[in-house]
Amino acid sequence: MGKTILTGDRPTGRLHIGHYVGSLRQRVALQNSGEYDKIYIMIADAQALTDNFDNPDKVRQNIIEVALDYVSAGLDPAKSTLFIQSQISELTELTFYYMNLVTVSRLQRNPTVKSEIQLRNFEASIPVGFFTYPISQAADITFCKANVVPVGEDQLPMLEQTKEIVHKFNAVYAPDNPVLVEPKALVPEAEACKRLPGTDGKAKMSKSLGNCIYLADSADEVRTKIMSMYTDPLHLQVSDPGHLEGNTVFTYLDAFARDEHFERYCPDYANLDEMKAHYTKGGLGDVKVKKLLNNIVQEELEPIRKRRAEYEKDIPEIYNILRKGSDAAREVAAQTLSEVKRAMKIDYFEDMELIRAQSEKYKGSSSC
Ligand code: ATP
Ligand code: MG
Repeated sequence: MGKTILTGDRPTGRLHIGHYVGSLRQRVALQNSGEYDKIYIMIADAQALTDNFDNPDKVRQNIIEVALDYVSAGLDPAKSTLFIQSQISELTELTFYYMNLVTVSRLQRNPTVKSEIQLRNFEASIPVGFFTYPISQAADITFCKANVVPVGEDQLPMLEQTKEIVHKFNAVYAPDNPVLVEPKALVPEAEACKRLPGTDGKAKMSKSLGNCIYLADSADEVRTKIMSMYTDPLHLQVSDPGHLEGNTVFTYLDAFARDEHFERYCPDYANLDEMKAHYTKGGLGDVKVKKLLNNIVQEELEPIRKRRAEYEKDIPEIYNILRKGSDAAREVAAQTLSEVKRAMKIDYFEDMELIRAQSEKYKGSSSC
């Protein structure tokens, strides 16, 4: 079996550096490794509508933002299929059939859904579509038989749900000749990248929380955000010993800094460990650390920003890329859906044997 990647993002805003270290950076590396046969990158607009159903324009306007971020970050339409979820109606059909394989209590136990319900104040009235989005995510992953899904840590419960659906589908409908493929999550190794906190120190940088450094932010915006970032509230004087735990500036350095950066921007230290040791001992001010972080993040974002400015000049071409990608994804989805329907015995018109056997059964039973 070949190696296939599926992953994606909700068009609820521009992509931020949490997406970048959690998934996007890795996708580009995997794409360029040449080790994968197929790479599908999905803009999950239908999923975004499950909690933004009353704001369709937000979703509509952000399709292009996410697509621009993709190509600017290095996703190459010649190597990766970029597509829009809602344009593949087969995904909705798959979702409908998978719904039979999941219980309400199983969905209620999903920790990511639980915390998102809280975040969106849905406790009193949860839209059914939102509640069931882990099932539609199983359709997204299985339509192309993806076996590798590069995601941030918050997506692990979704991957578990998908694996259960795959397992159950194959056990019930295709025990001898499995139709669906179990995916594996690919979470970044570095702890800081699994769930990058927000600039406000909150547990997760998230479009919905407004605590993001966006890939498309200008150099000035990035600098302002970094210089006003949350650090260690107990580190009041430069001479005070500082704390690393919960110190967002150091978490970002964990995610971005390499030894070569120190040579370039902060030669007082050979590497991050040395800098951390000085900080915890006392005598190193936050401003110096933030300046280093700013230099490193700017270096990483500058080429992305430049490429974005180029791509922004030809918006119709970006839509063209998405249209072509959606056409390609639809073909693959139609193939999987037909295998699913055959396994579920709902392929009546394709099954000549069924029609033949039933005509046999009724032959001669006619009363006249
Ligand atoms: P929303 O608030 O609308 O849910 P989001 O910022 O959580 O937006 P998603 O589109 O839900 O972004 O996530 C897309 C991908 O990026 C997922 O794989 C997710 O795990 C990853 N991701 C999102 N935020 C972070 C983060 N702060 N750190 C690491 N990975 C992240
Ligand atoms: Mg999210």
